[in-house]
Amino acid sequence: MPLNHLPTAELQALDAAHHLHPFTDGDALNAKGARIITGAKGVFLTDSEGQEILDGMAGLWCVNIGYGRRELAEAAARQMQELPFYNTFFQTSHVPAIELAARLAELCPGDLNHAFFNGSGSDSNDTNLRMVRHYWAAKGKPGKTVVISRWNGYHGSTMGGGSLGGMKGIHKQGGLPIPDITHINQPDWWSEGGDMTPEDFGLMRAQELEAKILDLGEDRVAAFIAEPVQGAGGVIVPPATYWPEIQRICDRYEILLIADEVITGFGRTGKWFGSQTMGIRPDIMTLAKGLSSGYIPIGASMVSDEVARTINSADEFAHGYTYSGHPVAAAVALENLRILDEEGIVERAGSEIAPYLAEAWESLGDHPMVGETRIAGLMGSLAMTPDRERRAKFAAKEGTVGLICRERCFANNLVMRHVGDRMIISPPLVISHGEIDLLAERARRALDETFEEVKAKGLWQAAE
Ligand SMILES: *Cc1c(COP(=O)(O)O)cnc(C)c1O
Repeated sequence: MPLNHLPTAELQALDAAHHLHPFTDGDALNAKGARIITGAKGVFLTDSEGQEILDGMAGLWCVNIGYGRRELAEAAARQMQELPFYNTFFQTSHVPAIELAARLAELCPGDLNHAFFNGSGSDSNDTNLRMVRHYWAAKGKPGKTVVISRWNGYHGSTMGGGSLGGMKGIHKQGGLPIPDITHINQPDWWSEGGDMTPEDFGLMRAQELEAKILDLGEDRVAAFIAEPVQGAGGVIVPPATYWPEIQRICDRYEILLIADEVITGFGRTGKWFGSQTMGIRPDIMTLAKGLSSGYIPIGASMVSDEVARTINSADEFAHGYTYSGHPVAAAVALENLRILDEEGIVERAGSEIAPYLAEAWESLGDHPMVGETRIAGLMGSLAMTPDRERRAKFAAKEGTVGLICRERCFANNLVMRHVGDRMIISPPLVISHGEIDLLAERARRALDETFEEVKAKGLWQAAE
């Protein structure tokens, strides 16, 4: 391929000089230089040195359809020529937003028949936060303002999204969480379950929701928000007892259930939505990422008939984004959904890809560094530990070993992310069996190299 850009070192220098990266230690990155990604096809990225990298993370959990689908580019180009922008604020609408809302109503479970469009997942959760409070005020219960969320959940990094999330590192900066958001513990049995069975632990963690509602008073609680499977928190697959109990509690008390499906939507867990995999009936669903397979930014809050009826009959909901329902983004999302459906990509992800990936992933469980492997559809996690029996953490600062492993993966042309000392994957849904074999082979090599490096650096030690 002809070189269509500056040499890597010059790009890196410009990047260091002018580009502030999200969620990045700038000095550390600039000292070594970013790896520059220049192209992608299927499940492979190409960098500025011509290396091919297997993308085990589908970009950032979003490129469900795989890279290089010309149809999506064409849909964008067509729409840009037809109508590049118009707003939906002032008694107007347009074809792509209408068609996308109607298509989402068909695809989403239950009576989630109404879409409020946003620019991203974070925006969507900000919308949800304001909407549930507006909803309860409209129903004559303005005291119901508190949203309950979970420690180590991720709901974005805006003021609202970052507050709803339960990441202490995010809360530390910028004065979060904002008022009337409170957190309960996550259902992470491997790290926090002690001597309990996963089933008992799952129930106990779900019942924290009930205790919190009773503590605050039902008349104060607006909603509970959670990811069907926590993504950024480390792909925490909850014990089977967890979600049924959460659903029971949400049914029993008058609170809305918000399923943040930004990752779990659009086939990630092997069904169209994680709510279907987990057997829950949310009142609101947060969508983004896979909605457009990441080809263009777009998010949506899908709401039930009841929520929509209440919002529509209340005073104007004073909320919206210039780009809510952006016609180009909506057209690309529609084309993405058409392909996911017509080519049977979601269907095959569940029936053929997920079982094969699970076997490959679980086969890594015999590696001396691996404590557990968990997988739900096409999102998987493995915990590294110096003592599998005790499920012990490393003595070194959490994330030290994870970072080494991520670097070893990258050096082996595999993108696998680390969260603390867990390694996680979330490949494009179109990954083939052969590519899964390659992923597992590179992951094992990276684990071997990590093991050597950890021992050589004296890090092979359990915390007390
Ligand atoms: C990524 C993510 C978000 C935030 O979406 P952005 O598009 O990055 O704002 C929200 N919720 C979940 C579950 C996510 O994974």
